Amino acid sequence: MTFEQLKEMALEKVNPRQLTDYCHVGLVSSALLTEKGHVYVGVNIDASPGMGFCAEHSAIAQMIANGESRIQKIVAVSVGGKVYPPCGRCREFIYRINYDNLDTEILVDDNKVVKLSEILPYRYD
Ligand SMILES: [Zn+2]
Repeated sequence: MTFEQLKEMALEKVNPRQLTDYCHVGLVSSALLTEKGHVYVGVNIDASPGMGFCAEHSAIAQMIANGESRIQKIVAVSVGGKVYPPCGRCREFIYRINYDNLDTEILVDDNKVVKLSEILPYRYD
């Protein structure tokens, strides 16, 4: 499974829309590949005030629900396939659910892959 394939799977779920006055969803979508070879996809949910979560968080919740926690690769995209690196909270979250995820490969730009350990150097241990 390549990052290009993961990116395409994530992009299929990008569907920005407003559900209620203060709730926007689907602007960002994330796809992750587990060590067992499964792919999970999730989208962001933003509900004011201060509720909701990132697309990565959503994809991770689906993975956990299916009994897995080790992520090999993860990507997040928005409209037009623009790639976003995970926010600080998601970086810590990916680490917190499985310490081996420090080796998770993350697409942070169109042609740039880094390991989680590179973008989370000072963890809250
Ligand atoms: Zn995040």
